[in-house]
Amino acid sequence: MSQGINFGFLDEYAKREVRRSILKAISIPGYQVPYSSREMPMGRGFGTGGLQVTLALIGADETMKVIDQGSDDSVNAVNLRKFIELTCPGIDTTTHLEEASLIQSRHRIPEVPLRADQILVLQVPYPDALVIVEPNESKRKIMHGEADYSRLLVKLYEDIVKFDEITISHRYPTCINDHYIIDPSPIPRYDVPKLHDSEALILLGAGREKKIYAVPPYTKAEPLAFDDMPFRIEDFSDENGQRRVCCQCGSSDSFLDEFINEQGERVYQCSDSDYCELQQEQNNG
Ligand SMILES: [Zn+2]
Repeated sequence: MSQGINFGFLDEYAKREVRRSILKAISIPGYQVPYSSREMPMGRGFGTGGLQVTLALIGADETMKVIDQGSDDSVNAVNLRKFIELTCPGIDTTTHLEEASLIQSRHRIPEVPLRADQILVLQVPYPDALVIVEPNESKRKIMHGEADYSRLLVKLYEDIVKFDEITISHRYPTCINDHYIIDPSPIPRYDVPKLHDSEALILLGAGREKKIYAVPPYTKAEPLAFDDMPFRIEDFSDENGQRRVCCQCGSSDSFLDEFINEQGERVYQCSDSDYCELQQEQNNG
């Protein structure tokens, strides 16, 4: 680039290291691969882990989509997209999932299933699902190695004793390929089943915690649960047991955000804005 910045901001050595870590993460599904997370020109916690994965993978012929909480227009998504456009001249960006080859997202997996030629990069604040039961990282590593998740299961059981159900709303612990349990990033429970048998490669990057892990295509991903207390997703039923619908597109099978409109009424709208617009276009013929 003219200002002396390398394509993709990271130097080639850094990109190679991230790519090697990604290959290792794919080879050992769910294993948290340590890497030397670089300083980025934005605060850690704003998606620097996801961004480094993206910048190590992106090529000049890429079409990139950046999503934050299902929306392409929120501050985090706009800033990351601008940064990628600035440091990766020649790439295309899009808000349409269908056109994207590389998708970076925070807090959501798109509503429409991803294809085998797409890669999803999720931004991760806390990569280790065991952190809620064990503060010491070297002990957690041993627990992961031995697939010793008994304390995590006890934690879920305590939830059931106290609240009659597992109350975890996001970052739901999920077992990958019958061994490692991952923190799938702050996606809602609704998105967890999309990890299972996904056609697309799913990569998770934690910048502050310096970890990369992966759910490779067609891999088993099972949310933790008990035989008599199965995993369930969010319930969008109203007081009469009717499934709520999106106030914009009328969809009755999407993940809904709740908000209060100008009249002070509680309304529901698709969290995935691209999906919602697509439904509205189809409704209008
Ligand atoms: Zn909608």
